[in-house]
Amino acid sequence: MCNTDLTAPDAHYVIEKAIRKYTGFKAWDVVFEYAICMSCANSFRQQLSSESMRSIEKYFLDNVDIARHQRKLNVETPNILDFTSTCLVKGITKDEVEEYQIYGECRGNQFIYNAMPYMISGQAMDEIANLLSVQTLDELDGFAEKHLGPSPELEGLFKGKKIVLI
Ligand SMILES: [Zn+2]
Repeated sequence: MCNTDLTAPDAHYVIEKAIRKYTGFKAWDVVFEYAICMSCANSFRQQLSSESMRSIEKYFLDNVDIARHQRKLNVETPNILDFTSTCLVKGITKDEVEEYQIYGECRGNQFIYNAMPYMISGQAMDEIANLLSVQTLDELDGFAEKHLGPSPELEGLFKGKKIVLI
């Protein structure tokens, strides 16, 4: 959004990647992926209604097994696959779902292991989308159209409910 160079050694940014698989096949597609600097992510978040943001926060508090996430963090060298293979909310693995999104917070070329990284299954995404106001869903649509471009996959699968910057 601001054209900051995210390859700089001290760049602080978030990445998100959405993946769709096809039942019965080993094939999978990256539906979209992007990186956004922390400052743009924060300003975008502030545009979203506080009611929607509160709903997302409450959903996470009520549904995330924080102890499970903490156990993955409490090792000498956290393994990225431990975080991106299992849904933060549902505890199901990526082999059990048709679509999922992974999130990571990075500094330079390193992940920051804290609240992120994590994976969210399509099931949890649907539940979160149902909590959001029409206004927020429109904002997310606008973000997708402007920055990720019109794509048939986005139109069909992700329109209006899948991009959740948390
Ligand atoms: Zn930016």
